[in-house]
Amino acid sequence: MYIIFLGAPGAGKGTQASGVAEEFGLVSIATGDLFRQAVERGDDLGEKVKEYMEKGALVPNEITVQMVLNKLSAPECRNGVILDGFPRNLGQAEALDEAFKKQQKNIDSVVYIKVEETELIRRLGGRWVCRSCQSPYSIEGTLTEEQKKCSKCGGELYQRPDDNLETIKNRLKVYFTETSPLIEYYRDSGRLIEVDGEGEVGEITKRIIEALRRKA
Ligand code: ADP
Ligand code: ZN
Repeated sequence: MYIIFLGAPGAGKGTQASGVAEEFGLVSIATGDLFRQAVERGDDLGEKVKEYMEKGALVPNEITVQMVLNKLSAPECRNGVILDGFPRNLGQAEALDEAFKKQQKNIDSVVYIKVEETELIRRLGGRWVCRSCQSPYSIEGTLTEEQKKCSKCGGELYQRPDDNLETIKNRLKVYFTETSPLIEYYRDSGRLIEVDGEGEVGEITKRIIEALRRKA
């Protein structure tokens, strides 16, 4: 089973991808996490993608597509994958379809998580992430040192450098111009499942799981 999670920054793709992956025994691959890890390691890939990420721009397709296809060929991805944050433009979507066609694989469903723009800005501005396990937290106001601790693994919580207002606005702009056309692309090929992404996290997970079961 290969599933794509589509939606704006802050729509909850990462949170929902991990819940749904657990339910179906899938691996979830987040391109943003892979890039952030590369930047942290300071390797070749990290050097190449750093500037784009800081601006909230897309990393060029040739870098992104190669990294994702490479990851998808790993043994742990054999039973299926949830792609979180990829594809993000038409070129990436077409490259993925083409590669899968050759491998006789198939994107089964595309889950589009829909959230209002004002809510997206609110969520991203109050987002804290665990440095160790990447779990996101939504917190308003400032945090004491004591509070900057992940309740799942004890890791340190931090705010992503691209979660500042200016970069958030640019990421949303990039989303609306480059990524949102994919909604029609996947709707036209009958693979789109649209889910309301506002409400309680667990409730939204249930909506997605039920919609995927109904389709399968
Ligand atoms: P968000 O969805 O909250 O914007 P991500 O963690 O998915 O955050 O992505 C962070 C950054 O990583 C993006 O702003 C972009 O620079 C880069 N990135 C992630 N996925 C892709 C992709 N598929 N294509 C190009 N760049 C990407
Ligand atoms: Zn953690």
